[in-house]
Amino acid sequence: MVLTHFHADHAGGAADLAHRDGVTVVAHRLEAPVIRGEATGPAPDPAGAPRWERDLYDEVPHPPPAAPAPVHREVADGDELDIAGGAVVVAVPGHTDGSIALHLPGPGVLFTGDAAAGAHGGVIPGVFHADRARAAQSFRRLAGLEVETVCFGHGDPLLGGAGVALRRAAAALD
Ligand SMILES: [Zn+2]
Repeated sequence: MVLTHFHADHAGGAADLAHRDGVTVVAHRLEAPVIRGEATGPAPDPAGAPRWERDLYDEVPHPPPAAPAPVHREVADGDELDIAGGAVVVAVPGHTDGSIALHLPGPGVLFTGDAAAGAHGGVIPGVFHADRARAAQSFRRLAGLEVETVCFGHGDPLLGGAGVALRRAAAALD
């Protein structure tokens, strides 16, 4: 089980599932202490966010922190995981300090966590980031990957031409 970051809507099931046979919980080394309940992660910083994003933050429910869960394997940028034919950890700090994406170079698939999001049939650089400037840098990095398919933490996946959509969205940040 790969946790892209500590937020309860992503890591909330880990405490229940982590103790089952054969489950290995994987997270970035900066995120692991938060997932274990040993540290508090950064809150989203609304500074610089557009009005629609701040309104959205006020509208959506914010679940309490996830129950503490073990992290069996701490990873860092560039680490390879022996899943789905080989997955590469891409550190994408900004949404949280230890956010990660997973890149499957073989089939050209990217799992972004909340470093990007699907919206309006395309892709946006995500919302509710702890550090918007770092999140923008991370988004540009994702846009440099060779991918065809992108799966987001929120929003519909892009099932073709995803790299082009990512690069277009990244260019719009400049
Ligand atoms: Zn999140």
